[in-house]
Amino acid sequence: MLKRYAKLVISFMCMAVLCGCGGGNSQGTEDGLVAEQAVITEAEQNAAQEPGRREITEEKDGETEILVDETEQEVMAAGTSEENTIQKDEADNGVTGTLQVHFIDVGQGDSILVSQGEHHMLIDAGENDCGTKVQAYLTSQKVEHLDYIVGTHPDSDHIGGLDVVIYKFDCDRILLSSYQKDTRTYEDVLMAIREKNKQPEYPQAGEEFSLGEASVQVLAPKAGADYKEESNDYSIALKITYGENAFLFTGDCEEEAENDMLSSGLDLTADVMKAGHHGSNSSNTEGFLQAVSPKSVVISCGEANEYGHPRAEVLNNLRSMGVSVYRTDEQGTIVANSDGKEITWNTSPSDTWQAGEPKGSGADHEEVTDTTDTAEVQVEEEAVGAAIQNTQDYILNTNTKKFHYPYCSSVNQMSEKNKQLINDTSENIQAMGYEPCKKCNP
Ligand SMILES: [Zn+2]
Ligand SMILES: [Zn+2]
Repeated sequence: MLKRYAKLVISFMCMAVLCGCGGGNSQGTEDGLVAEQAVITEAEQNAAQEPGRREITEEKDGETEILVDETEQEVMAAGTSEENTIQKDEADNGVTGTLQVHFIDVGQGDSILVSQGEHHMLIDAGENDCGTKVQAYLTSQKVEHLDYIVGTHPDSDHIGGLDVVIYKFDCDRILLSSYQKDTRTYEDVLMAIREKNKQPEYPQAGEEFSLGEASVQVLAPKAGADYKEESNDYSIALKITYGENAFLFTGDCEEEAENDMLSSGLDLTADVMKAGHHGSNSSNTEGFLQAVSPKSVVISCGEANEYGHPRAEVLNNLRSMGVSVYRTDEQGTIVANSDGKEITWNTSPSDTWQAGEPKGSGADHEEVTDTTDTAEVQVEEEAVGAAIQNTQDYILNTNTKKFHYPYCSSVNQMSEKNKQLINDTSENIQAMGYEPCKKCNP
């Protein structure tokens, strides 16, 4: 009886694929043989997503008979797992709208808007001076409310502009990396979150949630991962699946985090991948690229950036894999549009294959990359902090002689006649006899 059940499930699978609802490779025109291969591919993918069912994958190349000859438990497991696949595919193919992914040009940094109907997610917001640019872009896209704001990791080229976005937009959930950093930029983000009475969440690999009709899976960071002080490796990595299409965003994850994703058993395949760490060669390792096997890669980096992103060896690997490459440094903001089957772009792929050139000593690529990711980032962060202080807006209370950041809650309670906007350094304002607010600590 169980044998017949398993056979029924498998025939149903074949029918489903022949009817064109099997997803993936089936376009409805293949003959029976190809359709059967498609079934096996589906089962294989399914098993890969579910580590507990690996033993069944081992039998994948066998015919129907082999599955039927397995123990009762295995047959049950195979039946259940395949039924799940069918249900999942029906749901996936049932998407009715579109998914737009906007790789916003923020120079050297990341900022990605993912929109599915009225549901929006922002992943990072570029450097400190990009907050208003990202805000303007979201407004131009009629975004008023964000379902999710994601700060992949606490480096300033990712979370710098996030405080502005958090202040300016209503938001349901704020996701941050579990790794915290003792910088002014990071503090600004935490303060914005507090001001909006929100609690950040720290997602871990394996968690899932939805964005309208799209499903979002967290691929990194791995629970309990210890990457020492390598903030990049703690990046939140997300795979967003819409119908038959998938997009992968790994922040600045480098080799170690990529290896952890590879060994996690999670399905990494995606049609579109945002190059890790702006196309650095400390990320985008060959094994990882092979596992993702993207058709297109988007590199978010600044024109003539000092880190030499993207690196030649990454571009070479992508080129030899036949991947279409899109680059914000050459093409500005890049938009991909998925209807659940096909992905269209607002521009043609780049064909320059032009690698970046690291500034400074630059002789040894590895060395430059290493310093970039540790000491130099720290120095850069301080420099950015100093630059921000030079151009910061503050609110003076001409009555109490205190001054605040514009978002400080005390500003709302201040009477209009005592309020004065000033653009100056904190030092200069203090030299004018004003005292910094204890709450927002300007
Ligand atoms: Zn970065
Ligand atoms: Zn980083």
